[in-house]
Amino acid sequence: MKKIQMVDLKGQYEQIKEQVDSSVLDVIQSTAFINGPEVHNFQKELEEYLNIKHVIPCANGTDALQIAMMGLGLKPGDEVITADFTFAATVEVIALLQLTPVLVDVEPDSFNIDPKAIRKAITPKTKAIVPVHLFGQAANMDEIMEIANEHKLFVIEDNAQGIGADYKSQDGKTLKTGTIGHIASTSFFPSKNLGCYGDGGAIFTNNDELAHTIRGIVNHGMYKRYHHDVVGVNSRLDSIQAAVLRAKLPNLDQYNNARRAAARKYNKAFEGISNIITPQIKGNGCATNHDTICDTCNCHVFHQYTLKVIDVDRDALAQHLNEKGIPCGVYYPIPLHSQKAYLDERYNEADFTVTNQLVKEVISLPMHTELDNEQIDFITKTIIDFVS
Ligand SMILES: *Cc1c(COP(=O)(O)O)cnc(C)c1O
Repeated sequence: MKKIQMVDLKGQYEQIKEQVDSSVLDVIQSTAFINGPEVHNFQKELEEYLNIKHVIPCANGTDALQIAMMGLGLKPGDEVITADFTFAATVEVIALLQLTPVLVDVEPDSFNIDPKAIRKAITPKTKAIVPVHLFGQAANMDEIMEIANEHKLFVIEDNAQGIGADYKSQDGKTLKTGTIGHIASTSFFPSKNLGCYGDGGAIFTNNDELAHTIRGIVNHGMYKRYHHDVVGVNSRLDSIQAAVLRAKLPNLDQYNNARRAAARKYNKAFEGISNIITPQIKGNGCATNHDTICDTCNCHVFHQYTLKVIDVDRDALAQHLNEKGIPCGVYYPIPLHSQKAYLDERYNEADFTVTNQLVKEVISLPMHTELDNEQIDFITKTIIDFVS
């Protein structure tokens, strides 16, 4: 059996080596390292893939979030509601901009921000909601947009884990995640579903004016050379990374299908194991019965395949897997509202019962495009033996 990895970047590279090598070499020979044609072409191709008017590439997914918030003109003291159960980058940029993060609980099945909790957290100072499409599944965007419209709030989608996922609205429309709110951010960190070979990120929006503002912000606040109209940052996707992304973008759907195929095999193996809960697909507005992962539906792109283990010592399981050569991850082990940097005396533990429970029960298994049957059999048998 091949050595099991959490993410197999090497195996994926082997499949596209020729194209990646030649286009990276072309960039080096052209010396158009910054803002070269590769970046522009990638931007256009991603706009087309997502069916969105504007993609603005930048240096990483954390910058993308920060720049999105700067572009919306949020002011110190404005409250921004986001999920308690996510990667810290989401809340970090809110705090960095001296906005006030307001963390709220998530849904126990999808792990995504709970619209009921959003409603409860709204105050006259609330200006924006940041749903995170966690682990590759869209948050409940119908309800989130409804709340936002009612209260005149911006919606900034953190799509770092969801690129390529579809969201089916109750009105029957299917949109890509990251194209539903007012603005969205994504990350091309190597392990993300569309990853480059270094750091990279992008901002998406359908709003022309906002796109214009943001193109200036990423470039030192310049709209005309050496005229600095607003305080900006320096955040660029470089041409070598864009060349890698151009080679991978045409394969994104196939990559996400490979992830779904692996998820389906995991699900099958865990069927009937009472103390293991496999990922729940909400498929909001989707005609398919989501007891199974269907072939055609992109409702979940499995950035992570995350189990909940009930009445099992999760940390002992993780250690056992590591001893057997099976990498695994706990995303995330500590709720953000309990992190030293983000403590806030307004928080009440009773408002975080789901996150407080999830951090004890979740475990993410190896998930990438190169997992084979032998590896999945070994992983699932090892887990079932341990929990049974
Ligand atoms: C990865 C990630 C980010 C940050 O992306 P970087 O490119 O690493 O800065 C932000 N939010 C979420 C949910 C992520 O998973």
